[in-house]
Amino acid sequence: MRESIPAADALLDKQVPVLDHGFVALTNYMGSDAEICRAARTCTSGEGTKTTSDDRALIRRLMRDNHTSPFEFVEMTFLCQMPIFVARQWIRHRTANVNEMSGRYGELPELTYVPEPERISWQNPVNKQGSGDAVPATIAEWFRDSLEGDMEAAFETYHEFLGRRDDGCLSMVERQDLIANGGISRELARINLPLSTYTKWKWKIDLHNLLHFLELRLHLYAQWEIRQYARAMAEMVQALCPLAWEAFEDFRLNAVTLSGSEILAIRAIVNGETNPVFTSRFSKSEFSAFLTKLADIGMQRFIPDATNARLSWESISTGVGGNPE
Ligand SMILES: Cc1cc2nc3c(=O)[nH]c(=O)nc-3n(C[C@H](O)[C@H](O)[C@H](O)COP(=O)(O)OP(=O)(O)OC[C@H]3O[C@@H](n4cnc5c(N)ncnc54)[C@H](O)[C@@H]3O)c2cc1C
Repeated sequence: MRESIPAADALLDKQVPVLDHGFVALTNYMGSDAEICRAARTCTSGEGTKTTSDDRALIRRLMRDNHTSPFEFVEMTFLCQMPIFVARQWIRHRTANVNEMSGRYGELPELTYVPEPERISWQNPVNKQGSGDAVPATIAEWFRDSLEGDMEAAFETYHEFLGRRDDGCLSMVERQDLIANGGISRELARINLPLSTYTKWKWKIDLHNLLHFLELRLHLYAQWEIRQYARAMAEMVQALCPLAWEAFEDFRLNAVTLSGSEILAIRAIVNGETNPVFTSRFSKSEFSAFLTKLADIGMQRFIPDATNARLSWESISTGVGGNPE
């Protein structure tokens, strides 16, 4: 019999707003923490005790040991509306089933994303894919005004192609011809529309792959916009499978993974080595990531200059000052 989880049922078909016109809604689900445990226990022919604390311990062990297949027994279906540039990042996650609205079949609604002023940032000087500090208010206003103007113009042209508007460029005979033939085909009329145009899809995925998606898309390195969708979905996962979510937070989201070189480096730091040679094994970006990990695990006092990892790397690797101790 299909299991019902009240906390998830309460969310069904409720559109959680994301960005200015987007949303995520949980439309269906199958499975639960208990189903993960039932799937895992088939390995042992259902032997063993089955209290909630046993379930918690089992799910934590599965997560810790990367015994992933039991998590695939939970499935979630979402209805999502997002700008096309977000959809392009999202669609890279190939382990989901997707059905997207068609701009060939129907007319696209005039919905475009305009970032809030505080979201508008300079290019990040270190992370080439990322945003840096917020821009001044006047520049944010200029950016938003320009975007809005361009988007409006693109949709005006789109509506002209479809025969809904008259820009006065065609003769009366040509315009009658356009209208009599239903306009330029929708599949071509749409191609001038911006990446900020909203699209919509149904997205179904199992919990194992959804957690993989969330691990990547909740990360600070993911673009802020897709992170907002990931956050909304994370809350839905938490409602459906609180034990799996807790284990995921502990063993994945909040975990710090150390490379072999990083373990050597931490050993050297703990053993009190001065000007350790190990730093030369790191590239600049690896060293910067290592400093972040030191901060994450509460060893920031070993970071010589937390605000300038590049300077620290150079000074340490050349042995000039900046000793991590
Ligand atoms: C911060 C960030 C920046 C990114 N930048 C870029 C970029 O600049 N350019 C770019 O192109 N992409 C970029 N990506 C996309 C990234 O490379 C992945 O394609 C995306 O995150 C999906 O991850 P995935 O393949 O693990 O997930 P899924 O597609 O869900 O796959 C899950 C797992 O299944 C396996 N798998 C699925 N399909 C296949 C297959 N066909 N062949 C082999 N194994 C398969 C793999 O083990 C994979 O890890 C970025 C992603 C992030 C998070």
